[in-house]
Amino acid sequence: MMLADLRSDTVTKPTPGMLQAMMQAEVGDDVFGEDPTVKKLEEKCAKLLGMEAAVYCPSGTMTNQIGIKVLTQPYDEVICYKGAHIYKYEGGGMAGNSLVSARLLPGDRGRLSVEEVAANINSQDSHYPNTSVVALENTVVREAGSYYSLQQIEKVCSFARSKNLKTHLDGARLFNALAETGDAPDTIGKHFDTVSICLSKGLGAPVGSVLVCKKELEPKVRRMRKAFGGGMRQVGFLAAAGVYALEHHVQRLKEDHRRAREIGKAAGRMPYVKSVMPVDTNIVIFELSQVTPEKFLAAIGAHQVKALAFSATEIRMVTHLDFDDAMLDKTVDALSKLRF
Ligand SMILES: *Cc1c(COP(=O)(O)O)cnc(C)c1O
Repeated sequence: MMLADLRSDTVTKPTPGMLQAMMQAEVGDDVFGEDPTVKKLEEKCAKLLGMEAAVYCPSGTMTNQIGIKVLTQPYDEVICYKGAHIYKYEGGGMAGNSLVSARLLPGDRGRLSVEEVAANINSQDSHYPNTSVVALENTVVREAGSYYSLQQIEKVCSFARSKNLKTHLDGARLFNALAETGDAPDTIGKHFDTVSICLSKGLGAPVGSVLVCKKELEPKVRRMRKAFGGGMRQVGFLAAAGVYALEHHVQRLKEDHRRAREIGKAAGRMPYVKSVMPVDTNIVIFELSQVTPEKFLAAIGAHQVKALAFSATEIRMVTHLDFDDAMLDKTVDALSKLRF
């Protein structure tokens, strides 16, 4: 029985082409800096984003945590969206790993403006934590994949720099954002000190994220990767999946967005759905009425469709490489058959 798994875009499995690339990877001990495939992936990512260096890591949580770590000192404060992954979904890592506080802002569906950032930079008075970083997320997962325009990024980052603040981008789904804006990836790097990109979300690799950064940060980033336990040995087998993903799975992201919009439209017509957040990229979030997420998930699960409870009233569905048009039809059909 075909199962449509919409819980996350992390559920994809390697395609035959990707598996073949992985099997054929040339490898070496990457902690000794001797894995040619990891080097290839890192060089590719740096060049792609118009930056100087990149470091391959096991997860996007690790790349974010290292980014914050190398840009802050203990007792600093990081300005970010109130539902940011770095704050809300990384197990308290920012506080634990970097000993920093977070200044949480609503943003416009998670997108921070110059005005909002300006109003939240602390003065040097010793009562206050030292504001040192502005961290953006693009796309914003908690806001159903809303994305920044390049102009918005330029404005907020150049303002941050003018205030001597560092900038980090959680670009777990940066390529989904760029698929919509049409901007080239190399327009992004110059605005940030560190950029995290995930290979294991919409791009379809089984594992891995890359922290792309300025050259002078690279030794620090490598040290923190080691300290956090992320130094890996013959990991070129996994890096090869990342290289393959960047070469084959970026152009197709708009298909995921089209399918997500279809799901959003269908959900919006259902009597048991109170509201659907605008579907900007590959994430659909809707609020239920009359029914709990648990009941909804059980009911749609009986139709072989899996989704995720995103809060006490909300459901999340995320489209990806392993979700095709037949599964879309099945999902829309399942939504229309549910009765509560
Ligand atoms: C998934 C995700 C990450 C990284 O998560 P890992 O599971 O640790 O790879 C980071 N930021 C955002 C916005 C994400 O959605």
